[in-house]
Amino acid sequence: MSTNPEIIEQRLKASGHRLTKTRKALLNTLISSARPLSIEDMGAQLKVQGIAVNKTTIYREVDFLLKQKLLEEVRLDPERRYYEFALGTHHHHIRCLSCGAIEDVSSTALEQATKQVKAGTMYQVIDHMMEFAGLCPACQR
Ligand SMILES: [Zn+2]
Ligand SMILES: [Zn+2]
Repeated sequence: MSTNPEIIEQRLKASGHRLTKTRKALLNTLISSARPLSIEDMGAQLKVQGIAVNKTTIYREVDFLLKQKLLEEVRLDPERRYYEFALGTHHHHIRCLSCGAIEDVSSTALEQATKQVKAGTMYQVIDHMMEFAGLCPACQR
């Protein structure tokens, strides 16, 4: 995983930006999260770490990190925007159809599928889209 915070710090400094305390905490929160986060989620997690930031600040930081290509938007929920660290390992998502919870999932079966598609079509495969939907453990009860 290329999630070394020092590399990110260098990257920001190289483009003339600073890694403020809030920015650093927000990035670390996103890097260590096992699921994409909404603006509300980020606010709640920063609060737990003792960092009080208002929504406007988080929006501004997210906007900045998107422009730096350190974050990417995850389009899974039509009513809410989710974001995740852009330089993590490749993975997919599963969404609960009942409560809307979203989590990261990874599967090696996809590499196999990509090889099969390549061999079957002679295409150079550049991208794919896949997501799972179901009922989370809490909603199954
Ligand atoms: Zn659920
Ligand atoms: Zn994810």
